[in-house]
Amino acid sequence: MTDPAASIEELTVQRDRARQDHADLVARGLKLDLTRGKPSQRQLDLADELLDLRAPVVSADGTDLRNYGGLQGLAELRAIFSGALQVPVAQLLAAGNSSLELMHDALVFALLGAVPGAERRWVDEPEVAFLCPVPGYDRHFALCERFGITLIPVPMTPDGPDMAVVERLAAEDPKVKGIWCVPKYSNPDGAVYADETVRRLAAMTTAAPDFRIFWDNAYAVHHLTDEPAEIADLLALCAEHGNPDRPFVFGSTSKITFAGGGVGFFGSSPANVEWWLGHTAKRSIGPDKINQLRHVRFLRDQDGLREHMRRHAALIRPKFEAVHKILSTELGGTGLASWTNPAGGYFISLQVPEGCARAVVAKAKEAGIALTPAGATHPYGDDPTDSVIRIAPTYPELAEVEAAITGLATCVRLVGTEKLLADR
Ligand code: PMP
Repeated sequence: MTDPAASIEELTVQRDRARQDHADLVARGLKLDLTRGKPSQRQLDLADELLDLRAPVVSADGTDLRNYGGLQGLAELRAIFSGALQVPVAQLLAAGNSSLELMHDALVFALLGAVPGAERRWVDEPEVAFLCPVPGYDRHFALCERFGITLIPVPMTPDGPDMAVVERLAAEDPKVKGIWCVPKYSNPDGAVYADETVRRLAAMTTAAPDFRIFWDNAYAVHHLTDEPAEIADLLALCAEHGNPDRPFVFGSTSKITFAGGGVGFFGSSPANVEWWLGHTAKRSIGPDKINQLRHVRFLRDQDGLREHMRRHAALIRPKFEAVHKILSTELGGTGLASWTNPAGGYFISLQVPEGCARAVVAKAKEAGIALTPAGATHPYGDDPTDSVIRIAPTYPELAEVEAAITGLATCVRLVGTEKLLADR
């Protein structure tokens, strides 16, 4: 235990023990990877039936899916996901194999073709900025950086972004054109947006008439407990508050069926959907309807989807529980760390003392434990407090998760006690 009032002698003993534990860890020559939120092989196996598609390859309305056409994607697949993504079927599009490319396209289309309500295209603005709740998802930030969009960090709370900050920035600055949101089991801290947060996002005044909420509901059905989190209906609330075109909703089956071999979804207001289809009609002859049919046959309906997600939860819940248990045993009460215990999603966020995250990740690397780079959860890879580490426990086998987290805890003890001694 690292009592904050511990004497220098006591801290030195703890530091020396951590040094020895770390040296032993390095000597084990581990090779463990907790970097990215990927489904494990067993999770992927759950969807292998997708590979057995049989003829006839026709949709519910009798369309031959082997041919061109069908820009909106299969209506029966959209019906399965309409409830989970909270978008009416007519306003939900089933697209390609990933939602990230849809977010990319949304930015490109907005830059090069004015969104409904815009005074001009975003490329014609002197500057475009997005609000980025932090910690957040590095690929969101990378997309904005790719297109020269300025990233403005906003603190996260357990109820979603700090809305007082969001409302102030959105209201006072017309260059603020959007916000990134992962509203359910957010990446990385597992937060679920409170109803009031969603309402305020829908209702707030924005200086930009073409402000967009990029609502990345990537973990809409990825529950770890038997009490699925529900969030308020953003699309309906935006319409109710006179801002129907504000939300762009994204989702995918990447962590439901096959990552990279699934289906991405885009949903929005009728005006935005029309605008979107105007762009995608130039870009594509239509999505892979055959893969969409595979998904319809496999998932069947909303109950089928729920049942399938329960099988995922049964595989990954023990890994999340192991992380929580090991961190509690190794670091609980030390004052050296706190961490989230999410009810869904793919990540745990570990908070270490300020100025320690990079050093912990480096010490873990020495021991063969690969972690997401410290800072990745922040715009420009810069966590000004250097204190957040993202843990992605789904991909490795349970025994590997246990070994990696035990090793990580050793690194936190080592770096943390060294810091406490240096601060004395
Ligand atoms: N959004 C979030 C919040 C994610 O965590 C991830 C995957 N880590 C993605 C999007 C990627 O989704 P897709 O595979 O559909 O591109």
